[in-house]
Amino acid sequence: MSYKNIKQITVISGKGGTGKSSIIAALAAYLKNEAILADADVDAADLYLIFEPEESEEFDFYGLRKAEVNKELCIECGTCRENCRFEAISSKLEVIPTRCEGCATCYHLCPTSAIEMLDNISGKYFVSDTRIGKMIHAKLHPGEESSGLLVAQVRKTAKKAAETEKKDLVLIDGSPGIGCPVISSLVGVDMALVVTEPTLSGYHDLDRVLQLLEQFKIPGYIIVNRFDINIEITQKIEKEFAKTFPVISKIPYNPIFVQAMLEKKSVLEVDQEETEIINIKDQLIDIGNFIIEKMDLEKQI
Ligand code: SF4
Ligand code: SF4
Repeated sequence: MSYKNIKQITVISGKGGTGKSSIIAALAAYLKNEAILADADVDAADLYLIFEPEESEEFDFYGLRKAEVNKELCIECGTCRENCRFEAISSKLEVIPTRCEGCATCYHLCPTSAIEMLDNISGKYFVSDTRIGKMIHAKLHPGEESSGLLVAQVRKTAKKAAETEKKDLVLIDGSPGIGCPVISSLVGVDMALVVTEPTLSGYHDLDRVLQLLEQFKIPGYIIVNRFDINIEITQKIEKEFAKTFPVISKIPYNPIFVQAMLEKKSVLEVDQEETEIINIKDQLIDIGNFIIEKMDLEKQI
């Protein structure tokens, strides 16, 4: 397995609350023989709650460096405070760590070299063994904002794990929205699955996230979750985006998704065999097979 041949797919949603976690959990359970799971939703990592790691290796994540003033060298000229555009230096000429963005402007401007830029542990990332195989996940320390960098670290670690475990695929759970962490979870992937719901806000957020995919030239496919809560908007989504971003699945509303979360399982693992639930399980399996086919993976399931 060559490192560069490993395929990467990110599952994103324009906003939170679309059921993205439930869908990626089901895909991860189905593709467990194929994929390494990377939870890049580092601001709200929740897949570890479903897949409860049996054993984890833990690593420090070094985010942006932070400035620190050496009081013995400081002549209290105020230059650093005047020039810090993040207002991260207090009137007592002390750095406020939660505001410092590590830009080093103060470091370069200080006339007495009283400012040092220090390494800063801003979170942790984990390589975990779970019932569906290896999962990479992470946690930022409270107040830290370098989540785009942490996403990059999670992806890099997941790709390495895929190489070691001889897996062809990294399945990435991306953050909601269109900010820096999402971009970091999308850059360079082979395909994106976008989970949305048919509400007005869902529609607008979908529009924004699809623009992002267009910008990065990433092939994208839409999954409309709870499509039956508003058929009109579902049809609008199909009509307006289908040319560039086909809708590959429309999943109906069903309490099984909440039940699965409560039982700390993916929907595929819930032991219920009513027709409606079997149909939903089949739909999720179809999405898994779609991934296998599109990514040209050898099926081991
Ligand atoms: S620029 Fe340097 S010398 Fe001036 S107040 Fe800041 S730390 Fe002190
Ligand atoms: S490194 Fe940048 S953000 Fe941090 S205190 Fe210095 S000037 Fe402000």
